[in-house]
Amino acid sequence: KIHHNYYKCYISKFPFGIALFFVDVTAVKKSEQMREDFFSSVSHEMKTPITSIRGYSELLLAGVITDEEQEKEMLRKILTQVTNMSNLINDILMLSRLDNDDLMVELVPMKMRTCVDDVLENYEGMMVKENITIEKEVEDMTYVGNHQQISTLLSNLISNAIKYNNPGGKIFVRIYKENENMVMEVEDNGIGIPEKDQKHVFERFYRVDKGRSRAKGGTGLGLAIVKHVTAYNHGHIHLESTFGKGTRITITLPLHQHRKAIQ
Ligand code: ADP
Repeated sequence: KIHHNYYKCYISKFPFGIALFFVDVTAVKKSEQMREDFFSSVSHEMKTPITSIRGYSELLLAGVITDEEQEKEMLRKILTQVTNMSNLINDILMLSRLDNDDLMVELVPMKMRTCVDDVLENYEGMMVKENITIEKEVEDMTYVGNHQQISTLLSNLISNAIKYNNPGGKIFVRIYKENENMVMEVEDNGIGIPEKDQKHVFERFYRVDKGRSRAKGGTGLGLAIVKHVTAYNHGHIHLESTFGKGTRITITLPLHQHRKAIQ
């Protein structure tokens, strides 16, 4: 890869003549570029559901559909697309909040067993539908952190373990204390991630299989959010995956740390 630097040129007049100053603006350019890429991806992501919602609504309004079942099917498709867009907006809001350097969050003591059970409750329907079973080993421990952030971490990892699994698959959730850290592990025996994609899955809008992600309501932002939330809490992430066999993501969060908290 060729690495370009960008310079801004300033001209100053001196009694002995003029001087040119070059200031390296590579970092500013890069962040501008990233913002542009992000907005163009978001618009692109919005276009697909909007086009399909427009198409189905026009058909329904035209009054040409007489079959009730067909009509319902179209309404279901509209609902799916609306849900996808709403997921996307929630994820974008979460990311933009995390991007704010002065983010202050409320820290509360959380019982991890309750936290995991609350998250799992939201996925019960999805798991029953796909005949996916879950095994959990959650230590009876309390973690002091932001409730929304910890739920989001678990939620994003667990929903991926379901979305990228096979019918009849298994998910393991383990939470334990190790040294001065809380370790959260979510493992599945699903489709796995090809090696060449593993280093990219934490990037915004990176998907191994776009069709599958969209069909399952994925936004392509789940793991980018996981990465941000983990960094915010001074933790780290470890990904192990074998294509065709399964995936394990381990998040380690220090139990004692200095965060900007609302007192
Ligand atoms: P998405 O909304 O598409 O699920 P994520 O950021 O959560 O977005 O994940 C990015 C991509 O990484 C997914 O589209 C999928 O291809 C892959 N991926 C994430 N988790 C898993 C998993 N547990 N098993 C297999 N592939 C996964």
